[in-house]
Amino acid sequence: IRSIGILGGGQLGRMLSVAASRLGLRCHIYEPGAAPAGDVAHALTTAPYDDEAALRAFAESVDVITYEFENVPTSALDLLESIRPIRPNRRALAVSQDRLTEKTFLNEIGLATAPFADVPSERDLATAVERIGAPSILKTRRMGYDGKGQVRITDPGQLEWTGAPSVLEGFVDFSAEISVIIARAADGQVAGFDPGLNVHEGGILRTTTVPCGLPGKVTTDAVLIAARIANALDYVGVMGVELFVTPAGLIVNEIAPRVHNSGHWTQAGCAVDQFEQHIRAVAGLPLGDGKRHADVVMENLIGDDMNRVPELLASPRTQIHLYGKGEARPGRKMGHVNRITS
Ligand code: ATP
Ligand code: MG
Ligand code: MG
Repeated sequence: IRSIGILGGGQLGRMLSVAASRLGLRCHIYEPGAAPAGDVAHALTTAPYDDEAALRAFAESVDVITYEFENVPTSALDLLESIRPIRPNRRALAVSQDRLTEKTFLNEIGLATAPFADVPSERDLATAVERIGAPSILKTRRMGYDGKGQVRITDPGQLEWTGAPSVLEGFVDFSAEISVIIARAADGQVAGFDPGLNVHEGGILRTTTVPCGLPGKVTTDAVLIAARIANALDYVGVMGVELFVTPAGLIVNEIAPRVHNSGHWTQAGCAVDQFEQHIRAVAGLPLGDGKRHADVVMENLIGDDMNRVPELLASPRTQIHLYGKGEARPGRKMGHVNRITS
């Protein structure tokens, strides 16, 4: 494989392109909107996902197709897959695009999730709240990220609707949130990175810290859960698995079929980071050494955190990544820093 097509031109696509370049591979980005990845990839197609000619030309120009964004329409994926393989596979995408399918799949393979109920329309909400109780969280089945499309239901009388088919999740009283970034190669080789401790603010990831400070039994369980998911999906590539730590054990929150924000620490903490690991997997190369060799705190630079860049550039043992996105709107992820703390 010499050339990789990436669906999505955001910061994840950008960092994947850099990793591919380092391995001597070419990247072609396909992005309907603004594409920070466009400046570092070898080729950029800016076209909507219903432009058949553009999709066809894109697929024909590469050897394999991957993605940094899981909400690509099915029709586009069908066309692309008729021309080149898509890795991770369509099942991994279908399962993680829809919170109802995702939770059902996780329970089927024996993993715990928050209790949930299908809420196809607003008139099903009252029954769902009766079943799941309050506090609970109503989430759109599709397209949500950074806490968007969610309503917190604090008392059973408060029936606010999300505006789209949703799932109602029981509120999990967790002691911590962790995530596992795991890589699986086409031959079934699996390499898990150390679990990171995640802190969110306003639904957006703020920091990830490794080591996560939890007992070895918990971190081992977390990696085994991620491996079970990857095996069940016959997954090829890097996947992020978000988990809640509770006294009753680990609960899976959601999975992302791609490199993940909570895995950015690997850039400073591992010989082979999540981006290179993903490129290796989808290109059919052996996975690399993902063992952690440093303690790291990753912090996202969101909105006007960009004002801190001069100070951060002057900080010791600090790696800074800026995505070249232009306007620093509130809530927008503009970059991140990895502080080496050991
Ligand atoms: P992401 O940007 O990670 O894709 P998202 O929009 O898909 O986010 P979730 O990960 O489902 O949203 O939820 C965002 C955050 O809200 C979680 O990290 C957690 O802090 C909190 N949260 C979500 N679901 C629950 C739950 N059932 N119980 C308690 N807290 C929850
Ligand atoms: Mg999500
Ligand atoms: Mg999440």
